[in-house]
Amino acid sequence: MNQADAGGVSRRKPARSVLRESCGSSTMDGVQHHESWKSAGLGSSCCGGFVSSKVAKSGGVDDQKEGIINRVFYEGSRKAGSGSRRYSLVTYKELPEYMKDNEYIIRHYRANWPLREAFFSLFRWHNETLNVWTHLVGFLVFVVLTMANLVEVPQVADLLGLFTRPNSTIADTNVSYNSEELLLAKSLIDLKNITMGQESMRLMAVPLPAAPLPAATTRWPFFVFLGGSMFCLLSSSTCHLFCCHSHHLNLLLLRMDYVGITIMIITSFFPPIYYIFQCDPHWQLIYLGGITAMGVFTIATLLSPALSTGKFRAFRAMLFSSMGFFGIVPAVHACVVNWSNPQRPITLAYESVMAMSYLTGTAFYVVRVPERWRPGWFDLAGHSHQIFHVFVIMGALAHYGATLVFLEWRDKTGCGN
Ligand SMILES: [Zn+2]
Repeated sequence: MNQADAGGVSRRKPARSVLRESCGSSTMDGVQHHESWKSAGLGSSCCGGFVSSKVAKSGGVDDQKEGIINRVFYEGSRKAGSGSRRYSLVTYKELPEYMKDNEYIIRHYRANWPLREAFFSLFRWHNETLNVWTHLVGFLVFVVLTMANLVEVPQVADLLGLFTRPNSTIADTNVSYNSEELLLAKSLIDLKNITMGQESMRLMAVPLPAAPLPAATTRWPFFVFLGGSMFCLLSSSTCHLFCCHSHHLNLLLLRMDYVGITIMIITSFFPPIYYIFQCDPHWQLIYLGGITAMGVFTIATLLSPALSTGKFRAFRAMLFSSMGFFGIVPAVHACVVNWSNPQRPITLAYESVMAMSYLTGTAFYVVRVPERWRPGWFDLAGHSHQIFHVFVIMGALAHYGATLVFLEWRDKTGCGN
């Protein structure tokens, strides 16, 4: 079956309303907004598009041209006949300039589709289908992991308690642990009661002292990471699904995607830094404060038109890089402090898998392999961006594994090491 013809059918609408939908970019957006993103050199592909240097030719007069192009596309992508509209897929050459990002992917593009069609394209084959689904499945995996942890770990309440009752965590968990101990002791007493008789029981009924177990550590940094990952994966999926709607929405979703990436980077730092330096609060504060400040500054930069100009391009590149490289400092520090810790090789292995996954994924994204070798062969499946997405999920899952080790270690040892 011709993939270009395989698609959903939408209801007929008055031509004017369809044009308003598909040409949103030509009327809704300020010129300055377009200009700022254009000059920022941000590519049109979601999830890491900041690596691309391709500049969309648009803004001002070009917006009017785009409106005309949109109309042409709307007419052109409508399947003729049968009285119903069916949006067909187009080739790279037929794309509006703002969507031209990877010339090695030749066919199966959606261009200027209404939101409804874009949404239902979730169930159609086009060159973004697997980009959407890879991160959507990743998002659902993290939802399941979060739910599982929420059910088993009631300490998630500490996320709120942290701000209202700063020292409540340890006390609360001590209480719960001691209660469990007492319940266990009572069960043992009941069992002995049956087997040894009442007389012996009188001796045993003396309350048993609770074993001095360390307090279970707080979970909020763990859930901050899970939340950040879910936000990033969902915003990436949304971006890939709807970026074909209009230039305006494309820019808006790209911005959300970059914010999602930044948030995922920041929140990934929370569990390792918090748990490793749990007993050195000043280091906790320095590292977590540092990465949070860098993240907030990066987001402000991405959202600020003034700092999105070409003049600040190198500055923005430095911000993204420095957030990633920032991790080297606490990692080396943690290795030195915990060199003899038996958990160190395990967490290092997990975090190495994470780093390798992100690096490999980014390498695929930058060099655009394998589609570069065989343009057109990997349009639907197997192109670099899909591989990049899979590596991002692998990296996040490896980090999740490392976080579980940190948690188990802190639950067992507290600050006793
Ligand atoms: Zn992506």
